Amino acid sequence: MTGLKKDNLGDCQGKKRGRKKGCRAWNRGLTKSDIRVKKYVDKHIGKSGMIGKRHSEVTKLSMSISAMGNKNGVGNRSNTGKPAWNKGLPKEKHPQYGKKRSIETKLKIGKKNKGKIRSEETKQRLRDIRLKQVFPLKDTSIEIKVQNQLKEKDYSFETHKALIGQPDIYLYKINLCIFIDGCYWHSCPIHFPKRVQKRIEKDLKINKKLRELGYSVIRIWEHDIEKKDFNIENYLIDMRII
Ligand SMILES: [Zn+2]
Repeated sequence: MTGLKKDNLGDCQGKKRGRKKGCRAWNRGLTKSDIRVKKYVDKHIGKSGMIGKRHSEVTKLSMSISAMGNKNGVGNRSNTGKPAWNKGLPKEKHPQYGKKRSIETKLKIGKKNKGKIRSEETKQRLRDIRLKQVFPLKDTSIEIKVQNQLKEKDYSFETHKALIGQPDIYLYKINLCIFIDGCYWHSCPIHFPKRVQKRIEKDLKINKKLRELGYSVIRIWEHDIEKKDFNIENYLIDMRII
């Protein structure tokens, strides 16, 4: 194939036989109606391999038998330990990006999920998974400021602890969860008084749950941390926490 731009997965083309292992197929995400696919079929049909042909039922059966017990097959990627093919790929490169589902497809999907009943056990398992999930959060500059001040004073802490609400900083020696709340996202009453209050309610719920579990909780506003003279140690002393 010429005229195809190389994607950012390295040199996947030009090898003697097909593509390198682990590379994305050139036609992945393209439909049969895509001009590139059409051209390819026109050029190769009847010349090689399976293009334009179908496996017989017997062949299909023998293929499925030989694939039995193959844990590394399609749908079992989670066991291989290898990163997903789309890891690190920008979302625009995803084959489903920008694609709209037809109403029929939506209905089909809706039907499939309708009436799915999850057992209490499954629900709890899902909750636990969600709790432990570390979101790909980048520490914000205000978080880093607080972390550095704590490091300077030799406080031991964990960041984004797998607890309800994922506290930004957790001082495990004194069982204290510190949330560093951005003014916009957490609807600070000074800078964003008109923002929806749902977020505040959610934050208060998280505080309550953590306190019920025996943790101390404090929330510090972005605008407080941004002040030049902000110092976490003094703040905790003022709050009578340490
Ligand atoms: Zn604010």
